Amino acid sequence: MDVSPADSRTPGRRMHELSICLSILDVAGEEVDRRGNPQVEAIYLRLGPLSGVVKEALLSAFELAREATPFRCTRLVIEEVPIVVYCSKCDAERPVHSMQDFSCAECDTPASKLIHGRELELAALELIE
Ligand SMILES: [Zn+2]
Repeated sequence: MDVSPADSRTPGRRMHELSICLSILDVAGEEVDRRGNPQVEAIYLRLGPLSGVVKEALLSAFELAREATPFRCTRLVIEEVPIVVYCSKCDAERPVHSMQDFSCAECDTPASKLIHGRELELAALELIE
């Protein structure tokens, strides 16, 4: 489930993270509705370094966003996704050298396609049975 806001260039970092959290809670709320409104222990989010969102900022915005929602006691668990590219020389998915150097960590060929790293998606909900 992709929860990126439509306009990811919204000015003001704090507002940006807050609107992302509200959109996460929207998606989670719909899912909880479908399952008959169980209590949610944790929301699991996959976050890539190229999503433009800082993990710490997202966590603190979440504390704010969850107030006055049914998710007051819900934790946000962020799984950081590493950058993975498709390397045409290796003909395989490979990690890169760094955020600044997008070439294959195995053979140094410049990456031809980004596979992972831009993620900002709801991975799972942990429910209280
Ligand atoms: Zn390679």
